Amino acid sequence: MTLKRSVHRDLADLCQFHFSDGRLCRMLRWEHHPQYCLVHARQEQQLLEADRIGSELSSLSGDFKTATDINHALGRLWTAVTHNRIPPRNAAVLAYIGQLLLQTLPGVKHEINRAHNNFQAWESLLRRVFPPPQPHIPPAPRPAADSAK
Ligand SMILES: [Zn+2]
Repeated sequence: MTLKRSVHRDLADLCQFHFSDGRLCRMLRWEHHPQYCLVHARQEQQLLEADRIGSELSSLSGDFKTATDINHALGRLWTAVTHNRIPPRNAAVLAYIGQLLLQTLPGVKHEINRAHNNFQAWESLLRRVFPPPQPHIPPAPRPAADSAK
């Protein structure tokens, strides 16, 4: 009886991840996850967060045509990597793409200026990323409840 209970408890302490060939992971279950070892718990977390990270890594303007846009996305990538929310291999690919985007910025700027034959086009692109500050207008005072009658 004691041996049976011990075996049952031991199985509950093992990771319940099934590999594609039907085998079970033999690692100890991570104390902070109900089913998986640390490795498989992290894989599960990264899969669950994949959609959210995709939208977090978008740029401010919706394009990657300014250094600020790319810097913003790389900063978000940095945060995702440090919180272990994205696999390092994917992060390395995204960082490399960010580097390529930064390297092509002078060409994008040149083409935009040439196509519009002035600096105004580049300026308007930057204004999409950094809208001019709006003056702060305090809200109008609300009429007192007695004066409404
Ligand atoms: Zn496992």
